[in-house]
Amino acid sequence: MKQILIAGAGHGGLVAAVHLANAGHRVRVVEKGKRADLGHDWHDWLEYAAFDGAGIPRPDASICLKGVAQGFRNPKATVMLRHSFNQKAVIMDRKELIAYLLKLAEEAGVALDFETEAVAPLLCGSAVEGLIVRQNGALLELHSDLLIDSAGLYSPVRTKLPASFGIPNTINPRSVFHVWRAYYENTTGERRDPPYIIDFFHNNRPGIDWSITESDYVDILVGKFSQAGELTEDEVDAAVAAYRAECPCLGSKIVRGGSFEDIPISRMLPMIVADGYAAVGDSAGMTVPLNGSGIILSMNAGKILADTVNAIDGACTKKALWPYEYEYFMRHGKDLVMIDIIKTLFTYVKGADIDYLMEKKILTNELLHVGNGPLNLTAEYFLNLLTTGLPLLKLVPAAAKCFKTLPFISRVCNAIPKDYDEESVKKWVKRYQAL
Ligand SMILES: Cc1cc2nc3c(=O)[nH]c(=O)nc-3n(C[C@H](O)[C@H](O)[C@H](O)COP(=O)(O)OP(=O)(O)OC[C@H]3O[C@@H](n4cnc5c(N)ncnc54)[C@H](O)[C@@H]3O)c2cc1C
Repeated sequence: MKQILIAGAGHGGLVAAVHLANAGHRVRVVEKGKRADLGHDWHDWLEYAAFDGAGIPRPDASICLKGVAQGFRNPKATVMLRHSFNQKAVIMDRKELIAYLLKLAEEAGVALDFETEAVAPLLCGSAVEGLIVRQNGALLELHSDLLIDSAGLYSPVRTKLPASFGIPNTINPRSVFHVWRAYYENTTGERRDPPYIIDFFHNNRPGIDWSITESDYVDILVGKFSQAGELTEDEVDAAVAAYRAECPCLGSKIVRGGSFEDIPISRMLPMIVADGYAAVGDSAGMTVPLNGSGIILSMNAGKILADTVNAIDGACTKKALWPYEYEYFMRHGKDLVMIDIIKTLFTYVKGADIDYLMEKKILTNELLHVGNGPLNLTAEYFLNLLTTGLPLLKLVPAAAKCFKTLPFISRVCNAIPKDYDEESVKKWVKRYQAL
């Protein structure tokens, strides 16, 4: 039986907690928030497959709503890449989703410590031996055989690991998205077609906005790539006003949410395990880089992590935990590298370039949904890319880098060592980071 500590009640950490406790380990989750405050004040998109992949029962259908049709729009609004209603998508209130995962964890015998802040990892040489927490104003040292870092993008555990661990402490600004999200009153009940419109470089801002018209509210997200600076209230007001001009049903009263947040839009970090430590979810860069979706990936990773730990006989060393990183990468992470490169290109280009990419069918529905499965680009696509993509090389130096690495992505990704060996892993990390 191992003593397992989980920093942060993130999705992947809670899924891992359920399976590890069911397997007989002593599991404790340390969460800084109050139980009633956990989860965001909005709905999120995921799929039932997230629960199946995570090996936990699907929640009651009464707390799951159906998805709606989506459309991706270019800045000039000349192209709408429609994506028909995804039968597999379910929409859940984030607070209900977290409450559901907490209930499963509790039923499995996981100890839940709320209002307890993870402050830093407890280190012994090159190993993590536990966690320093602040509880009721006092600093305590908690010891563990394994510390699972599920504390999100700015995890104080990952950010305080020594550089020698090879786990990045900081996130590249091009992999963070500053957002505002709020539900505004729908004053007429009107719904647009498609109801969910995602706009690239909306209102001339380097970022992505969306508007989802529901009959009683309009869900607005205003986003900006963080390398372009902080998202200001003026920019939010301007974006909302632009939406109101095309959709008069958008009222000014906020009926839910209304907060600034940061979303990681990154591929898996090059290292997510160390002796006595494993990161999961946003803390490990497990998102769909173009839209920041991370719930499904995080929950799936939690299951892979638990399976790996349950198969470990002795200590949770980096070598013993490596199959977790390998499995996650092979099943999910590698398919997202391409989309990460495209996203990075997005952070360099101008709105006019996005217009070109979409009008010339270089940026397609298939690319935009790459996170939903393996990417199968046709010969026709590459021919089109060769003929129409050339002007982009002159326009954007970053495009050259992007297109230059395309042929190597698959080779580098598939070269991830199956078994841990310090030298081979170091070599692979170098090649992965160069993509
Ligand atoms: C506006 C917005 C919309 C999104 N929409 C979607 C969507 O539709 N679909 C989707 O799949 N994803 C969506 N995401 C992304 C999604 O929120 C994350 O990818 C997902 O939550 C996975 O993150 P996580 O569980 O690892 O971490 P988090 O959800 O960030 O959870 C981390 C937990 O750790 C706790 N914590 C943090 N620091 C400490 C500390 N020091 N001590 C103790 N506890 C700590 C936090 O309180 C929190 O409970 C959205 C994100 C945002 C911001």
